[in-house]
Amino acid sequence: MRFAQAFALSLLAMASAGCAAAPVSQAIAQVSAAATAPVDTRVVFPASVQQGSLVFGKVPANATVRYGTRVLRPTNYGTVVFGVGRDEAGPVSVDILTADGRTQVASVDVTPRDWPVENVRGVPPKTVAPPPDIAARIEREQAQVTATRARDDDRVDFAQAFIWPLQGRISGRFGNQRVYNGVPKSPHSGMDIAAPNGTPVLAPAAGVVTFAAPNLYLTGGTLLLDHGHGVSSNFLHLSRIDVKVGDRVQQGQVIGAVGATGRATGPHLHWGMNWFEVRVDPLLVLERTQ
Ligand SMILES: [Zn+2]
Repeated sequence: MRFAQAFALSLLAMASAGCAAAPVSQAIAQVSAAATAPVDTRVVFPASVQQGSLVFGKVPANATVRYGTRVLRPTNYGTVVFGVGRDEAGPVSVDILTADGRTQVASVDVTPRDWPVENVRGVPPKTVAPPPDIAARIEREQAQVTATRARDDDRVDFAQAFIWPLQGRISGRFGNQRVYNGVPKSPHSGMDIAAPNGTPVLAPAAGVVTFAAPNLYLTGGTLLLDHGHGVSSNFLHLSRIDVKVGDRVQQGQVIGAVGATGRATGPHLHWGMNWFEVRVDPLLVLERTQ
């Protein structure tokens, strides 16, 4: 009996999560839930996070949740996720409208981090000051990658405990101010892990392959994995890509191999993570669960 009730509840939660703007189904869900078990009405967010964090919150599963201009869809367990950028000063706030019509605001402080300057010497000069026709190519390739990150899947792979895609020394940290051959460039958008050429790269969490290209100008062998709800990983400078766009991959599955393609001084994996267009630090995502 208890199992049947729990099952019915989870069905209702699923139904309401799929149409958060429908007050009728929310009302039904609430009444039915009240008849069987207490509704989980907790709203839980961290009091503070570091810059570059992927932030997880807990809300009632049928709540309508807004962060900035985006609506965050709660999972069946009431988990929501969003990213806080490298330069976000905070505090940031999340608006939660519950089925009973109450609005709550969760405020999250953002702890500033130090961003050391990192001098990278010996990269191919043509990748630091590309000729105009190449600059157009780079812009085109980056636009393709950016478009891929707009995807907003219902899959909840992002909620898995992430694992390292390979073992190795961290040779470059997220957010550091990069100076290539003496020329200041954008902050480092991910985390570099040094490893020999050909070292297998594992999927840090399950996902769907949304982009795979063997030779982009700056990033070389480039692979994007979508973990759902706007969370994605990118793997750059690969020497080999073992999956294709549309493939569903499991956590720990080999997806490619370390290389030094594109703007790189030697073989390493660049692993970046995004929440839509917001870049977050993979190391913080790993530390969250380890
Ligand atoms: Zn890198």
